[in-house]
Amino acid sequence: MPRTLHVVLLVSLAASCGGDPTAAVDAASPDRATTDSRADTATLDAPALEAGGADSWQVDGGADLLTADLPPPDLPAPPGCIQGAFQPYFGNFHAHTSYSDGVQTPDDAFQYARDVAKLDIMVVTDHLEQLYLVPPADRYGSCKTAATAQTSATFLASCGFEYGSGFNLFLASTGHNNVFFSPSLFPAIQLDFHDFYKTLVACATCVGQFNHPGDEPYQHWSNFEYHSDADDRITLFELNSSAAWDLFFKALDAGWHVSPMYNQDNHSANWGTANDRRSGVFLSQLDGTALRAAMLDRRTFATYDKNAVVKVMADTVCWMGSVLTNTASVTLSVEATDADAADTFSSITIYGKAKMQLATSSCGSTNPCSATFTIQATQSPYAVARVEQDDGDFLVAAPVWLAP
Ligand SMILES: [Zn+2]
Ligand SMILES: [Zn+2]
Repeated sequence: MPRTLHVVLLVSLAASCGGDPTAAVDAASPDRATTDSRADTATLDAPALEAGGADSWQVDGGADLLTADLPPPDLPAPPGCIQGAFQPYFGNFHAHTSYSDGVQTPDDAFQYARDVAKLDIMVVTDHLEQLYLVPPADRYGSCKTAATAQTSATFLASCGFEYGSGFNLFLASTGHNNVFFSPSLFPAIQLDFHDFYKTLVACATCVGQFNHPGDEPYQHWSNFEYHSDADDRITLFELNSSAAWDLFFKALDAGWHVSPMYNQDNHSANWGTANDRRSGVFLSQLDGTALRAAMLDRRTFATYDKNAVVKVMADTVCWMGSVLTNTASVTLSVEATDADAADTFSSITIYGKAKMQLATSSCGSTNPCSATFTIQATQSPYAVARVEQDDGDFLVAAPVWLAP
C-alpha cells in the first residue's frame, strides 16, 4: 500500500537523521492519525508516545508547537491527517544557469535570489544531460557546494536537476520533471518516461515534480497515466502555463496526488525577479529536511502574487495536502492573506473532480479573507481551493483528498 510505504520511508529517514526512533511506533498504530509530517517534526525531540487518548495529539514535536492546531479533545483525526505547526516560505524551485542553457553559475543564482529577489528558498535545476558535460568538472557537485555555502538560517539554497527525454519527435508523449534531493545524477538520457519513473522510485530520498505541463502539446506523460509507486514520489505540479490549470485536474482525476507550484524556469539572470509568481511551502523550519517533508506532504501552494498566502485546514487540524480516508465529509477552512494591505481578495472557490466548482464565497475586496466550506466525499475525491485577488492575481492551494 503506497501510503504505508511512504510513511515507513519517512520514518526510516528520520531515524537515520538522528530523529527519535520511537516515532516509528506511531506510524504503525491504526488508532492514530497518519501524519507524514512526523518525520521532520520527530527531529524536534518529540516525546515518547503514550498509549492512545487525547494526549496522543501532541506527539508531533511537543504541545508547545501545536497549541494553535489542537482539535476538540474527543474528536479523532481521520487517517492521513497531516498535523503540525508550519509557516509559509516563498521559493523558486526551477531555474537554469550556464551549467545547462542558462547564464552565470549556481552561486550567482543563489546570491541573486537571496539578495535581489528576496526569496526564502532557491533551487537550481539545470538540465540533467548537460550536467554531465565538462568543464567545469562535476557540475552537480559544484552546485551543491555553492548551495551549502549560501544556505543560512534565513535562506535555503539547494540543487536538483530537470529530466527530459528531449526526443519527443520519436515518442507520442513525454514531459519534463524536476528531481529534488537526489544524491547523484540520474542516467543522462532515458527516452521513455516510464524508465525515469523507475529511476525516481529507486532513489530513496528523491522527490519529483511535473514541470510546465502542456508547455508543448506532447508534455502530458501519456495523459497522466497513473503509476501508484511514482505517485508517492512525484508530489508537485507546476502551474506555469495557461494550459496547466486544466491539466492539473487531468492529473488529479487520473489519480495523482500532486500539489501546485509556480516556478520561474529562469534562463536569464533573473532568478526570482522574472515575475512576482512564487511557490509557497509550509515548513516546520527553514532547512532541507523540513522542505523535503513538506514536498512529500504536499504542503505547497502556487501564487501569482509575491507575498500572498493561502492556507487550507481540513476539520481544523489537518493540513492541505492531507489524504484522508474513512472521511465522508470534511470542513475546509480557507484563509488568504497578503502582506500588502491594498492587495485585496475577491473570492474563494473550491474545485473538485473535472474542475467542477463545488462552492464559492465572495471576499468583498477584503484582506485577509477567510471562508469555511463543507465538502462531501460523494461530490469529489478531492477539493482544491483557488483564491482570486482584485488585481487579477490568484493562488491555488494543495488539494485535500477524502474517501469514505
Ligand atoms: Zn523544462
Ligand atoms: Zn527548465
